[in-house]
Amino acid sequence: MPDLRLGDVIDDYCVKCRRLTNHSIVSLMNGSAAKVRCRTCYNDHDYRNEQAPPTKKELARQKELYNEVLSGVAPAAEAAVADPPPPADKKKKK
Ligand SMILES: [Zn+2]
Repeated sequence: MPDLRLGDVIDDYCVKCRRLTNHSIVSLMNGSAAKVRCRTCYNDHDYRNEQAPPTKKELARQKELYNEVLSGVAPAAEAAVADPPPPADKKKKK
């Protein structure tokens, strides 16, 4: 395991540069990088283990899958919704 120190340069994904760039470690946690600073745009951010955040397309896909799962496992819930309780009539005035 590499011995990381403040100021060491490591690769990480920069959301501003939208690619892997060199980063300086600005904060350490338990011997690993906690916060890093992009050496291209000087943006500070949490170290993300070189992982790019999911794109909008991937997020949409995840939501799609999630909804598919929901519709697959929740027919009972739909049946319940099909028979709604009578609306409360609290606004009735004398
Ligand atoms: Zn950057």
